[in-house]
Amino acid sequence: MDTLVRAGILYPVTSPPIENGWLLLRGGRIVRFGGGAPPRADGIIDLAGYLVMPGFVNTHSHLQFTAARGKMPNHDFIEWVRAAIAYSSKISVNEMLRGVEEGVEELLASGTTAVGDIASHPTVAEKVARSSLRAVVFAEALAPNETGGEQAWRHCLDFLEVARNAGGRVGLAPHGPHTVAPQLFAAFFRYARERDIPITSHVAESPEENRFIGTGEGPFLDLLQNRGTLANGFNGYGKSPVMLIRQQGALRHLIAAHLNEVDEEDVAALVAEKAIPVFCPGSSRWFGRKKVMPLDRFFEAGLAPCLGTDSAASNGSLSMLDELRAARGYFDSIPLERLVEAATMNGARALGLECGALEPGRWADIAAFPVRNGLPLDAVFTAKEAAFVMVGGKVMRNTA
Ligand SMILES: [Zn+2]
Repeated sequence: MDTLVRAGILYPVTSPPIENGWLLLRGGRIVRFGGGAPPRADGIIDLAGYLVMPGFVNTHSHLQFTAARGKMPNHDFIEWVRAAIAYSSKISVNEMLRGVEEGVEELLASGTTAVGDIASHPTVAEKVARSSLRAVVFAEALAPNETGGEQAWRHCLDFLEVARNAGGRVGLAPHGPHTVAPQLFAAFFRYARERDIPITSHVAESPEENRFIGTGEGPFLDLLQNRGTLANGFNGYGKSPVMLIRQQGALRHLIAAHLNEVDEEDVAALVAEKAIPVFCPGSSRWFGRKKVMPLDRFFEAGLAPCLGTDSAASNGSLSMLDELRAARGYFDSIPLERLVEAATMNGARALGLECGALEPGRWADIAAFPVRNGLPLDAVFTAKEAAFVMVGGKVMRNTA
């Protein structure tokens, strides 16, 4: 059973756009694509007035916190962290599950078809794994000292099993170099590499994190000490978060979110280790950050940065369209094509998913937006929502 999709503009990402292009789908995958006279098919989806492209890949989210939208007190980072910790200790599993449902709908509406989602609860992981989105579910670990390590391990391994049994792809997410002890971080990294599963972390997000890693001082000292999770006499590691992770041998191809606070040495290390930066511009904007990830430099150096929404607790929107516009707001010198690559192909590669481009053999994960006068990608950068969304050949949304 073949389905033909006709497009006003076909935007494959990995090859040039085709006016009046078409896609031939079979068994949830793309068989062929091209321009000119389309092949015969059993069914036709007519998107003649639309730009048809691969669905977006949101490489960094926490869908369980969707219900936290509007509940965080203010935009000061440390106050926010305190509020987020308090919120996490109170939120019920049902509230998290409702958050996942709401978040999945919001992502689909924006043309997002795949997600790399970090979860702290196995039930949430199961829900994300069974959702309409293609998902990689990351088990989050928090263990600032070695004594909490065993519990964090057990939690993560149980979690991976639950998510895998739900048919999901899984990964590991040691929360950050300031919240996971270095040896433990390295052990998570080795575990992920041995099993060929993706691993992600929050890295160099704030100046407070860099200060804490460097000297053991600042608000993170109080935060972690108050929770009784830090060894006595801790006085930092004398280096940056990026260099600490590199020293542990855990930077190679690491999916590293944020990277706002990086210097020349960090950038060189990230490039040498072919790390995978995830830009979360909505979150950076939320905290009013002046210094953000040097996305332009990462592109120039040949890395493949991705794009992520982070959670609704630190971003008003989970729309990848808004995220692309926010990225554009920070970096108007980066061509739109590169930003779209970050939001599609690069994310798919990072998560190990066969989507992110319109190519034969890839999954039929597709989004469509009304064509505008002007450049092809104006359709994306001006759209409020996707008019059409398909995941694995299944239509999830169609207002076209
Ligand atoms: Zn995050």
